[in-house]
Amino acid sequence: MADKKNDEIKENFNSVKKQIAEAAQRCGRNPDEITLVAVSKKKSVDAIVKAIDVGVEILGENYIQEAVNKIEVIHTKSPSWHFIGHLQSNKAKVAVKYFDLIHTVDSLKLAKEINRHAEKAGKIQDILIQINISQEETKSGAAAEEGVKLAEAVSRLKFLSLKGVMGMPPFFDDPERARPYLRRLANIREAIKRENIEKISMEHLSMGMSDDFRIAIEEGSTMVRIGTAIFGSR
Ligand SMILES: *Cc1c(COP(=O)(O)O)cnc(C)c1O
Repeated sequence: MADKKNDEIKENFNSVKKQIAEAAQRCGRNPDEITLVAVSKKKSVDAIVKAIDVGVEILGENYIQEAVNKIEVIHTKSPSWHFIGHLQSNKAKVAVKYFDLIHTVDSLKLAKEINRHAEKAGKIQDILIQINISQEETKSGAAAEEGVKLAEAVSRLKFLSLKGVMGMPPFFDDPERARPYLRRLANIREAIKRENIEKISMEHLSMGMSDDFRIAIEEGSTMVRIGTAIFGSR
């Protein structure tokens, strides 16, 4: 008997990939510039294994303990795992052990903790700086004005490799309203690039979720983080 769930994830994944390619082509970009992170928070090991089997290569998780439980079970499939949730300094060690890219570095204190554990683990940890583009008190992320300063400080930490910035606009029913926030994040990345800081690459602009990834791609996103459109609602 055909596994219905499997087909659903497969159809969703293929449809999202197609929409990413179409959005890229519409604005004259190469679809290969855009990396898809499938966000699997609150989704079962079963669903994740199905996603890997249909071609998902990068998974994004928000909660350290939940992620570790799943990664320990799924490790034989060896996809790449990205951490996209709020990271507390006391979880930095675990994050370094399990994740190829940490999207959510929002303070020098956290960066230093990650750096310390990366050194111990003999690893260069790839990170993104998370910027609070929504300017809501409750949202995490470094203040926009501090992006350049934080990037400079991070660039001096030997066991970190800064690859770009990440951000999340506030939620709107009409995703078009997210555009100014996405554009602001793209501008912050450009401002950091212009500083020509040594030893950082800034190749990534991590923005765009299920509702707004087409607009994020138009605004220059290189990394979209998509959960619901692939795995269904949570
Ligand atoms: C949950 C989450 C996503 C995915 O959201 P969807 O709307 O389900 O696509 C992306 N980024 C972050 C930081 C998230 O927490």
